[in-house]
Amino acid sequence: MTPAVSFTKVSRHFGAVRAVDAVDLEIAEGEFFAMLGPSGSGKTTCLRLIAGFEQPTSGRIEIFGENAVGVPPYRRNVNTVFQDYALFPHLNVADNVAYGLMVKGVAREERSRAAEEALALVKLPGYGARKPGQLSGGQRQRVALARALVNKPRVLLLDEPLGALDLKLREQMQEELKSLQKQLGITFVFVTHDQGEALSMADRVAVFNDGKIMQIGSPQEIYRRPATRFVADFVGSSNILPPDFMQRYAGQRRWGSLRPEHIRILAQTSGDGVPARVAALSYLGAGTRVSLDAEGLRLHAVVDSGGALPAPGDAVVLTFNRDHVHVMDEPA
Ligand code: ATP
Repeated sequence: MTPAVSFTKVSRHFGAVRAVDAVDLEIAEGEFFAMLGPSGSGKTTCLRLIAGFEQPTSGRIEIFGENAVGVPPYRRNVNTVFQDYALFPHLNVADNVAYGLMVKGVAREERSRAAEEALALVKLPGYGARKPGQLSGGQRQRVALARALVNKPRVLLLDEPLGALDLKLREQMQEELKSLQKQLGITFVFVTHDQGEALSMADRVAVFNDGKIMQIGSPQEIYRRPATRFVADFVGSSNILPPDFMQRYAGQRRWGSLRPEHIRILAQTSGDGVPARVAALSYLGAGTRVSLDAEGLRLHAVVDSGGALPAPGDAVVLTFNRDHVHVMDEPA
């Protein structure tokens, strides 16, 4: 099947800054695709390249198999939901939503019917007469979404659309966006620096660093089998194990990663394992995070808060199942 979006060796440089650096990428039709990475890693520039707000310095971009380089934004079947919503304050909600259709010359009646339909999709039926200033942040976010959906794009681009919402609302919107995407079957490309958000919503995640994609995979692959130290560190809270440590305790001289939930903490008298000292405890609710100093490393374990907990300063022994150690692709 022709991919919805494909990048071949796409670069976008701003002077000496390689915002996007020789990126290869294929996003399938109907996929919920997340671009994840720290600030400045090139995610937004990639999104803007898909939207047509930026042009590549080099490389090839195709949207549904057609060359997109040089094609202006309004000629692409793509719409963007911006982080700051970019609503027109003087227009009411219905006119904001119908704006794109008005520009295209769609008749008034047809426009307002489509706007009402889009508002119903985002669960704001009957809000058309209000001004954006009379809405909550979450409602404004929904209006911005309706304004993009009314154009029936084949690809919807979302640039940190939930960034301004509080945690509870964000979680609710994550679920709604996901089910809306399934219902409509539109390809969603979502930019976020929040790994929890990317892992919980996306079918596949691309992890960005320094203008490059470090890894693309399903949330499970990215979380369980990070390709590099950067991915292991950025996605979740893995312990990174250097080659010396790995050789000694896991039998191979490579970089490894180990999830905090896979470390067991035993009393010092219990013999074999990694000698360690407890540095600190943080209560997380069901689990407690234990910071440990071992072999010159700072490791973290998460243990059941209901069980016996060590105390800061305790000398302990750490054990783990070698099967739980993930060996990374990076050379030692
Ligand atoms: P954030 O999460 O902070 O939005 P990001 O991963 O989306 O970050 P980009 O906005 O794509 O990152 O920026 C990538 C790099 O390109 C940064 O170093 C940024 O300063 C630079 N950059 C982006 N746009 C421009 C521009 N118009 N002119 C010059 N440099 C730019």
